[in-house]
Amino acid sequence: MSMINVTLPDGTINEYAEGITCAEVITDALGRKHGCLAAFVDGVEKDMSTKLSSSCSVKGILSVSEEGVHILRHSAAHLLAQAVTELYPGALPTIGPAIERGFYYDFKMDPITEADLKAIQKKMQFLAKQNAVVERIELNEEDLKSHFEHNPYKMEIINDKLEDGAGSTIYKQGEWYDLCLGPHVPNLSRLMFVKLTSVSSAYWRGDQEREQLVRIYGLVEPTKDALQATLKNIEEAKKRDHRKLGKDLQLFHIDEEVGQGLILWTPRGSIIRQELQDFISFHLRRQGYSQVFTPHVGKLDLYRTSGHFPYYQESQYPPLVEKDLMKKLADEGCSCSELANLMKSGDIDGYMLKPMNCPHHVKIYSSQARSYRDLPLRLAEFGTVYRWEQSGEISGMTRVRGFTQDDAHLFVTEEQIAEEVLGCIELVQIIFNKLGMTDYRVRVGLREPDSDKYVGQPEAWDKAEDACRSAAQSLGVEWTEEEGEAAFYGPKIDFVVRDVIGREWQLGTVQVDYNLPERFDLTYKGNDGEMHRPVMIHRAPFGSMERFVGVLIEHFAGKFPTWLTPTQCHIITISEKHKQYAQEVADLLKEKEIRVLIDDGDDTIGKKIRTHRKMQPAYMVILGEGEAENRTVSLRARNGDQISDLPLDQFIVDLMAEISNKEPQPCLVPSQQQSED
Ligand SMILES: [Zn+2]
Ligand SMILES: [Zn+2]
Repeated sequence: MSMINVTLPDGTINEYAEGITCAEVITDALGRKHGCLAAFVDGVEKDMSTKLSSSCSVKGILSVSEEGVHILRHSAAHLLAQAVTELYPGALPTIGPAIERGFYYDFKMDPITEADLKAIQKKMQFLAKQNAVVERIELNEEDLKSHFEHNPYKMEIINDKLEDGAGSTIYKQGEWYDLCLGPHVPNLSRLMFVKLTSVSSAYWRGDQEREQLVRIYGLVEPTKDALQATLKNIEEAKKRDHRKLGKDLQLFHIDEEVGQGLILWTPRGSIIRQELQDFISFHLRRQGYSQVFTPHVGKLDLYRTSGHFPYYQESQYPPLVEKDLMKKLADEGCSCSELANLMKSGDIDGYMLKPMNCPHHVKIYSSQARSYRDLPLRLAEFGTVYRWEQSGEISGMTRVRGFTQDDAHLFVTEEQIAEEVLGCIELVQIIFNKLGMTDYRVRVGLREPDSDKYVGQPEAWDKAEDACRSAAQSLGVEWTEEEGEAAFYGPKIDFVVRDVIGREWQLGTVQVDYNLPERFDLTYKGNDGEMHRPVMIHRAPFGSMERFVGVLIEHFAGKFPTWLTPTQCHIITISEKHKQYAQEVADLLKEKEIRVLIDDGDDTIGKKIRTHRKMQPAYMVILGEGEAENRTVSLRARNGDQISDLPLDQFIVDLMAEISNKEPQPCLVPSQQQSED
């Protein structure tokens, strides 16, 4: 028997007899309780039962790793299909992938309801306890087809995906099997902790013309605790959903008659946006940015030069064509598709809602002859742009068709890239810290080595990539570099924020660009007297105000820091008699630009508190006999904690300090849940 060398992740090389399995290698290296459910063999995912036939490297895939979770989910989808076909003998499994949160499987079967899920889940748990081994079996084309004769959906996949004469694999557990490439968990007991969550319908292959199927969604985790934590997070996410809170707290509105994906900022939501914009603007001025304003449309020619038209047509609102021209073409009998062709080829002029602010800013740059003394030129605009997201993808404030970017374009020399990228990142850091979004990571997108699809000189790229790397490094947070993730026109830095319940939100980017300066033939006169090409940096650190505020609503669960709270103080009187004092307190607060609301109505104090709590003011200011007499206030915090008889003057001074310091949480009421040590 010949021997092979197996390299382990720590570099150890062990010698084994050929034919040893991944499971045996991993058990030998890590002991029986290794927690792995599959393995990388030379970097490729394989089953634990895979026999090794030549020297290679082996690394276990833990059930808690990203790849492990994926395998667990996909394996649970198989288990779901097995349970459904055992309970509903006529049901035909179609496809069942792992998805972001869990898994689903689509079946051709009579409709079922959520009430039926319980029995299916029970069956899954029963099967998992039986702990059948999951086996991979290679079949030739003929055998494969005979296994799936009864299922036209699987046959369609086989006929579409497999080249003539090619075989494939099935995965078998007990008597049940499915068409699949794997890998899978080695046995079913790994799938004990499943939960079926919902049932809906879907079309075969997403095609409305084809059969309607039943889709069952589920979750799976490696342990009971992990499953409970996931279910709790889902509950919490529902409570924090910005679409729900946005409505309850009256922060924004979407109206079908205005259009899908178009956000109407209500007065209360507008306060949050304005406060954020003011805060960002302050730091932009400090960093030497110039504010500009540009229109919401631009000529098609502008976007022909920039390259946004016609290439990105799919993701844009259709162009606007001048009325007279439209009429003339219609009179000539020009069809819509002829019109589209004329437009594409540049024979017709028109306008477009701007999908990006960059071309407008480029034109501000080129409106004057520039010299090295003008650089860096930093142009900032809260610029509204329009993109045609597919209607299925539109959601609340986070996927919209019109949004305002916290946009800016920096026109710099090659030498200035590093420092300017650093400046962009500093701004992000300041704001994340102020908002208590301290759990974030950074992705640096680099070019694919040896590819020729990139514009700009390789040496320039090297420098820009180094600049992005060291800027990311300087943040002191987790960062990764990802080859091939750069745009064709330059490297970039993305920010991904993790919220309190562990969800990740991709916010904005900083992006180096060698392309647009080229396309628009931008120049500046160097101190050598020669003309040079500037480099552009695009940056919108928060992406858009809509998305950012949507994320903030969920991040704070609607309980904003005082400086962002739409109405900071709700003044509540105990009785009729304190009306005048209430008005006096309100006037003093308003004088200091503190946002207040008075409730001096007839309801009981208990009822008033319950009503106002729903709007999540930073403080409820409660005024009665004692307060009016002594010129004090009593405060009630969001969690119900209270403080009484705070001198009015002191309260105003402290509140102003809290607001101007942008404290991450209201802090005027000491917490009564003291720890007992
Ligand atoms: Zn599978
Ligand atoms: Zn841009």
